[in-house]
Amino acid sequence: MSTGIFFHYQRGKRLKDFPQALNGILNRGDVFFYDAFYPSKPASPFDLESIPLDILHEVHTPEMVQRVRATGDYEGALFSAAGTVAAAKRISNGEITNAFVFTGYGDHHAGSDFFGGGCYFNGAAMAIHELRKKRNVHRFAIIDTDAHHGDGTWELFENDPETLYLCFCSSPFKEINGNVNIQVPFRVDDSIYLELIRKAFKKWATCFDPEMIFWNWGYDGTKGEYGDLGLTPDVHLKLATDIKQLALRTCHGRAIVILCGGSSRKLASLLIPAIIKILSN
Ligand SMILES: [Zn+2]
Ligand SMILES: [Zn+2]
Repeated sequence: MSTGIFFHYQRGKRLKDFPQALNGILNRGDVFFYDAFYPSKPASPFDLESIPLDILHEVHTPEMVQRVRATGDYEGALFSAAGTVAAAKRISNGEITNAFVFTGYGDHHAGSDFFGGGCYFNGAAMAIHELRKKRNVHRFAIIDTDAHHGDGTWELFENDPETLYLCFCSSPFKEINGNVNIQVPFRVDDSIYLELIRKAFKKWATCFDPEMIFWNWGYDGTKGEYGDLGLTPDVHLKLATDIKQLALRTCHGRAIVILCGGSSRKLASLLIPAIIKILSN
């Protein structure tokens, strides 16, 4: 097992303690750190490259890409998605087994021609397009445990039965073409939430037989966060273990954790290193 960490420097408070908070993890021989190239640093094989326009346009309309440019967050959005695309390529060529992607602006509210909620580009969708086209990898599962509904991801995969999208949020149950929405009750406790997730894995994910798993991980459903579902911080570590197990059972451990919602700097510093440790153990 080896783990890739995909990082770019971001504005805002929540990731202020990174990459320093990864200290200790980065010394491990089976953990690799890829970061966005800055002119001050000599080039290396661990640079995180940007995304060319043709890949962006596989998923998003040129008009939408123009609208994202106008927000002023274009570069951050590009490197957020670039981390996911780079992680998927490196997993598919066997360089690493799994990955954690630091995204400032991603992923699940970005559809083919719309974006919102701090998500500009859909990195998982671009990665899936790339792997299908260039690596002959076809079946993917996206597990979404951000507190909110992933309207962008839902739209992008609604007509794609080879991608399983399991979204856990407060919207009612719905199932169409491998897109499944599982309703999470408002103010749920950890054990009920985990039971819901495990049942869904058993019913949809295990038999789907994905070749790679994306986890849209948000911690905004933690108590006190802006999407508060009543969850404790600990639930995220249990989820990480479950997703790692699911990946080991179905696709040789190939999994990518994409950081989605959550605002607390304290929770980021507590949970991210712990999740990376679970991935890499
Ligand atoms: Zn959210
Ligand atoms: Zn949903």
